[in-house]
Amino acid sequence: MANRSPSIRIGDDAPGYDLDCFSIPKNYAQDLEKVFIPHGLIMDRIERLARDVLQDMGGQHIVALCVLKGAYKFFSDLLNAMETLNRNSDQASPITVDFIRVSSYCNDQSTGSVRVLGGADLSSLAGKNVLIVEDIVDTGRTMQALLPLVEQHGPRMVRVASLLVKRTPRSLGYTPDFSGFEIPDRYVVGYAFDYNDYFRDLSHVCTLRETAKDKYALAVQKL
Ligand code: 5GP
Repeated sequence: MANRSPSIRIGDDAPGYDLDCFSIPKNYAQDLEKVFIPHGLIMDRIERLARDVLQDMGGQHIVALCVLKGAYKFFSDLLNAMETLNRNSDQASPITVDFIRVSSYCNDQSTGSVRVLGGADLSSLAGKNVLIVEDIVDTGRTMQALLPLVEQHGPRMVRVASLLVKRTPRSLGYTPDFSGFEIPDRYVVGYAFDYNDYFRDLSHVCTLRETAKDKYALAVQKL
């Protein structure tokens, strides 16, 4: 698609930034290894993604579908950026929102089974330009499960925006239409990315210490 910006590629041996260079909540300071993507860089990249999305999908009613819980910050910041562009455009069209809850991870492992836990009545997507907003594409299983569910309701167009895409041998080969950053195969937290629901309340995307994985681990259940 013309004018779609390239993803920012973060190399396999990217060292990240010392925690001391940033403000980190005290309660998490011992649990994190490095700041991997600072909040300011995330916001700058989102500003450009918003432009890419509107160039492709604008001029028609957009339904933005947030994949909870991990995408809620990206969703909110992306929509704010799109609204800012719309306020300054002659061709603005409505953007409405919906939410769907999906779960596939236990601790830092994909369980391989994607569960839709609730949310949107997808029949409202019929005839609309649907923007699915996801936090990260790892294996791509979540998107492979969600896309047919959305498509079967007859949207006019479906696009997927993911803040992160992981380079991993486990990938099924799915790539989103819009992607913020391509990252190495590491488990990240912060900016709504969680480890068993912790670390969402951290503004930067960070890497975790191994000790934190034990500290915040859940007993593995059969999902
Ligand atoms: P996929 O179905 O593509 O394997 O995984 C997608 C989901 O797994 C994401 O929506 C996210 O919830 C979770 N996930 C994958 N990698 C990470 C990661 O590095 N950190 C966190 N917090 N979640 C991840």
